[in-house]
Order: sequence, then structure tokens, then C-alpha cells
Amino acid sequence: MEEHIRNEIARFVREDPANRFPDGEEPYFDEPLVGFATADDPLFSEYKTIIGDFHRTPQEVMESAFGDSIHAGAVISWVLPITRQTRESNRRETIYPSQEWARTRAFGEQFNTALRKHLTAFLTEQGQRSVAPQLAPGWSSLEDPLVGIASTWSERHAAYAAGLGTFSLNGGLITRRGIAHRCGSVVTDLTLTPTPRAYSTRGEWCLFLSNGSCGACISRCPVNAVLPGERDKIACREHVYGTIPKAVAERHGVAETGCGLCQTKVPCEGQIPTGVKQA
Ligand code: SF4
Ligand code: SF4
Repeated sequence: MEEHIRNEIARFVREDPANRFPDGEEPYFDEPLVGFATADDPLFSEYKTIIGDFHRTPQEVMESAFGDSIHAGAVISWVLPITRQTRESNRRETIYPSQEWARTRAFGEQFNTALRKHLTAFLTEQGQRSVAPQLAPGWSSLEDPLVGIASTWSERHAAYAAGLGTFSLNGGLITRRGIAHRCGSVVTDLTLTPTPRAYSTRGEWCLFLSNGSCGACISRCPVNAVLPGERDKIACREHVYGTIPKAVAERHGVAETGCGLCQTKVPCEGQIPTGVKQA
């Protein structure tokens, strides 16, 4: 079943017309990475401490959609790598994101939502119950005094649990296809074999967090939000949701632009950076 699910996600990414720029044939995303975590993986309970007690476990997500008698079996997580062409366009930018990047953030994320819906429909056809945490009843984003902007489900933490990557100095997730991506997930009542995590610490694939080197993302940030210690989430948010949309959203034809400067022109852009010790 794991291979069946992996193949269906890859097929949808390859074939669905929504994974295409409006003015051409180029896709927003390359072939996805897919991983699985068991729903009762202790990490999901730990996230209530690490992120906040508002963060849902897979069981809570399933209960929100199907009631108390449901049993969550597994989390299916995917990473949609942003294409080289889009990454290269953003490498040339120093203050605002490129048009390709902004369109990937806006329309590519719409495709990601379509993928969430497609996978749940696909699992229903197989006789399984499932729900995308981000589309589940009661999902919400919130502003927490300790963690800043957060939501009741973190796609990146789900991907970490599903063996797809580790966290980074700039607050992203470094995967085998790098840090420039969008990710998503679905919780199901299926039992699936978990993907082994080829890491033991949360920052293992980031050069700075693993051995104190690199720091290339620090100088890429135009508002000095990436710091050797804690990321300045307020400065980042003001740039991403305030300054950038005012400056370029209309020109780029989108409402949400993203930024991604700290995810491009850096050694982890499209791969695990050279120099990281991999298990
Ligand atoms: S650019 Fe370097 S320090 Fe920044 S996230 Fe990537 S590997 Fe880590
Ligand atoms: S997303 Fe943009 S503003 Fe936020 S930390 Fe990265 S470079 Fe800075």
C-alpha cells in the first residue's frame, strides 16, 4: 500500500494541470518525496510541548473529522520540491521574491491543497478514511506569545516525523531535495510502515545547527531576521506579509508572495548541504 500511495501522489504531481504555471507548461513542483509516520509516534505528543498544546495529534485530527470511535493509523507526508528554474530566478533577488517564486507560493500552494483533497478521495476509493489536517474541522492558525504565528498542525513537523528532513537555522526543513519546497500531509486510519528517520537530532542536516558552519542564510535575509540564535519571526513576518505584498504582489499577479530569499542561493537550496554527516 505504501508504494501504491507514493505512486499516486507522484502521478498527480506529474499529470495534474494545476501543477503548471498559468502562462506555460513548466510545473511548480518536481517529483515529490513521500514519507510515513505511525500516528502514535511519540513525537506527535512531544509537539504539544515543543510547539504548544494547541498542536493536534493525528488521533485528534481524525476525531475532529470522524468522531471519537475512529482510530488514526498513520500520517502520510510529502514534500513538493520547487523547480530549479524557479529557485534560480529567486537567487538573483535581494529584497523581494521573483515572480516565479511568488506564483509558486500562491498557485503552487493551491495545487498542494488540491493534492490533499485528491489523496483523501483516493483513500476513500480504497475503502479507507482519511483527512488532511489543514482541511480538517477546527483547523486554525493562531498567534502564540511564545512561538509566534502557528497553527494546529505543522506540515514541517509532520514531515520531520515521517523521515523527510530536519529543521534549519532559518526555520525551514532541509530535505534530500533541499529546503525550497512546499509540504503537506494526510492522516489515515490505514496502518503503514513508517519511513526510517536517517537522523537523530532536529537540526542534523543544517550546517550551522550541526557544526556551527555556513550561516549563508543569515546574509541572504534583507531584514536581518535570520540570526545565529533565535530567528526574528516578527521581522520576517512584517517583510513577508507586509512590505513584500505591498511592493510586488500586484505586479506578480498574486495575493500571497512568500519570500524564500533565505532558501535560495544557499548550500541547502536543492539538496542536503555538502559537509553534513549523514547517518
Ligand atoms: S544556509 Fe546553511 S545555515 Fe542556513 S539553513 Fe542552510 S545549511 Fe543551515
Ligand atoms: S523568509 Fe525572507 S524575511 Fe523571512 S527570514 Fe527568510 S529571507 Fe528573511
